[in-house]
Amino acid sequence: MARSNEGVVGANSTPPTVGEQEPLAAHNVGSVVRPASTHEETTDQDSRLQVVFEISRILLAEQDLDHLLPRLLATLVQIMDAADAGSVWLYDSSEGRLVARGAQGYDFDALKKMRLSPGEGMVGKVFQNGRGELYPTPESTNAAMADLTPFNQKAFEEATAGLRQPLSAVCVPLATAQTTMGALALLNLRTPGSFTQKDLDLLERVAVLITLAIQTALLREELESTRTISEANRLKAELISTLAHEMRTPLTSIKGYSTALLMDEVTFSPETQREFLQMIDQECDILQDLIRDLLESSIIDAGLLRLEYQPVHLPRLVHSVVNELSRRTTHHCFVIDFPDDFPILEADPDRLLQVLRNLLDNAIKYSPEGGLIVVRGTVGEKEVTISVADQGIGISPEHLNRLFEKFFRAKSNLGSHVVGSGLGLPIARTIVEKHGGRIWAESRLGHGSIFYFTLPCERLGKSVACGEEDLNG
Ligand code: ADP
Repeated sequence: MARSNEGVVGANSTPPTVGEQEPLAAHNVGSVVRPASTHEETTDQDSRLQVVFEISRILLAEQDLDHLLPRLLATLVQIMDAADAGSVWLYDSSEGRLVARGAQGYDFDALKKMRLSPGEGMVGKVFQNGRGELYPTPESTNAAMADLTPFNQKAFEEATAGLRQPLSAVCVPLATAQTTMGALALLNLRTPGSFTQKDLDLLERVAVLITLAIQTALLREELESTRTISEANRLKAELISTLAHEMRTPLTSIKGYSTALLMDEVTFSPETQREFLQMIDQECDILQDLIRDLLESSIIDAGLLRLEYQPVHLPRLVHSVVNELSRRTTHHCFVIDFPDDFPILEADPDRLLQVLRNLLDNAIKYSPEGGLIVVRGTVGEKEVTISVADQGIGISPEHLNRLFEKFFRAKSNLGSHVVGSGLGLPIARTIVEKHGGRIWAESRLGHGSIFYFTLPCERLGKSVACGEEDLNG
């Protein structure tokens, strides 16, 4: 049976798992690699076929390089007598260097620091010459590695847990008919025996298969990233067209009312003029909200959302938002229900105002028939819960858990005249979660919705009763 890979044990030097070892045991690869003295030639050929078969099996089973290469190297190290460590290097054209992409028997994190120029070290030389090399003695490996830069030498020592020099090595290029992509190296660091010409022959055969698999995996990676880019482009295009539409609606109103007011040939009564100006004012508010959401969202995307904590009296914030928004509607009634002992929270008042404004604005927008809007606060042991309930159109169950996704807007029979960006709730969620709270919604289609959010009160400052201190709001 093949020996275990005990040579160099690093962070990524995991021996093959039981699952990986099984097929080898089943096909008795160990005994084939080390043939019995009788029928030596045939057995030897069998064993090499067996190795190729085993490698092909892995190549077929694994598709992405991060799984494929360690598994492959683990198998090679396990079945090749002299091998203690193996690595696959791929040429990175943007850096002009060879970089370790997979390893077995090394500390992979240390090995990944190495950057080999073509021609540098045994891997660089084999890559440059496009020819496999056998380094059967410590002297030959020493000569091949003598030109490593001090940085690479140090990283190599770190990767091999202090072992400076391989005792023997074999290295083959990974090349297609058109290009050399990298190289595969196996090292003998401490166990007896050294690599032979037969090992080199075998590895050269195996390298053809490995190159094909790497090429396929790299193409797949490229395809995946192209897909991701085109999906991002699609979303961006969709957003631009949505925003163009959302902004056009209020702008058309503003333009219509202002053009009417400016017409010389028509004189409007002072009441009508006021009504038109009010419409313009409202539409400006809508545009302002859209632009604010967009700006906020880009601030959050850039990771620039910072909370400025200070003592906050939440009921007062609620009162100020309700005062502000109730001016926009005549057919909604507002109820604010907070217990007198509602605690003072350590929070960012401006950000919480944003959350409240968004939830109340939605409660108004999505209950076009009017009705009651109730803002309630309850106090738990570790957190407070704030809810905003409306009697509006409600949300269907399949949309409930998508509300907090960016740009999501549930299709409703309100049609396109309810303006929005689909950014308000995702922004509210980010703010609440940054405070250490949670946000969610409950709803019945056609019967209204309740949005809840919590805020922890572990950050509680001194327990100041309402109105005792001049707090925000
Ligand atoms: P928008 O700018 O579209 O209002 P939000 O992120 O604030 O964006 O809300 C996302 C979607 O959630 C809305 O388009 C709407 O479909 C739904 N929604 C939010 N609040 C309510 C509510 N109170 N009642 C019904 N639907 C709501």
